[in-house]
Amino acid sequence: MAQIIDGKLVAAAVRQKAAALVERVKAAGVQPGLAVVLVGEDPASQSYVRMKERDCDEVGIRSLDYRRPADITQDELNEIIDRNNADPSVHGILVQLPLPAGFDEEAALERISPEKDADGLHPENMGRLVRGIRAARACTPWGVMAMLDHYGIDPAGKRAVVIGRSSIVGKPMALMLLERNATVTICHSRTADLAAVCREADILVAAVGRPKMVTAEFVKPGAVVIDVGINRTDEGLVGDVEFDAVEAIASWITPVPGGVGPMTRAMLLMNTAEAAARAAGLE
Ligand code: NAD
Repeated sequence: MAQIIDGKLVAAAVRQKAAALVERVKAAGVQPGLAVVLVGEDPASQSYVRMKERDCDEVGIRSLDYRRPADITQDELNEIIDRNNADPSVHGILVQLPLPAGFDEEAALERISPEKDADGLHPENMGRLVRGIRAARACTPWGVMAMLDHYGIDPAGKRAVVIGRSSIVGKPMALMLLERNATVTICHSRTADLAAVCREADILVAAVGRPKMVTAEFVKPGAVVIDVGINRTDEGLVGDVEFDAVEAIASWITPVPGGVGPMTRAMLLMNTAEAAARAAGLE
């Protein structure tokens, strides 16, 4: 039976680290601030934003709330981003995705100053990740790395397989595992014989968005299985991994919910706290 990788527990530890850094930043005379921009009324996005603002409160980051209806223009969104780029009391800017239909998400993300990139998705910061330069990092894969570290799972020399190649999860995940000396394979919708490739993995990360797609047939006995998927089904929230069957053969596994999800929020705080620390001349 696999041991459970407890995202809530690791996220609490990361929040504590973020809170300690916030204290140091405050002691240096800077109050960390995060601008949270939500366009439209999508209920899931509204609830994510509420949780993120509550997290900020908990660790001492001031959050500035920008909620706008879905019918604002891209120019109006740009204006909010520009204003916060120019505001020295703001150290992180988060534009909640997905933006409503008609918005250019890439343009919005690129408009955020790379120094204030709370989500770690700016192309410049992705480039820094490719080059191995310390900068804001994509929150979800960075959260996965924090989980592995917390449980002493060292990727060095291991075979890692990442299913999914999005810019938000799959690609940065593969780069972070590579940076830590794993031998990495990226799989996607056109990968031939997916299960056989996945069975090679010592560390298997599923980031697809297809409920229970990863069955026991995909998993080498003793592998570490990280389930990034969040799928709303009639059974409630489920991941990309068929948990019960895979739990029986893996060495470690993340549950859904309570796995990667809480980590994404925690790393957002860390990106913001680190940006504020840099602004305060501490890092
Ligand atoms: P995406 O739709 O952008 O990317 C999905 C990827 O899966 C694509 O690269 C695609 O090639 C691949 N794929 C699709 N069908 C496949 C198949 N049959 N076989 C192999 N690969 C296939 O999604 P995303 O934004 O990367 O998110 C992936 C999942 O992770 C979603 O369920 C999303 O909700 C979840 N997610 C969770 C968190 C979190 O905090 N836990 C954060 C972001 C995304």
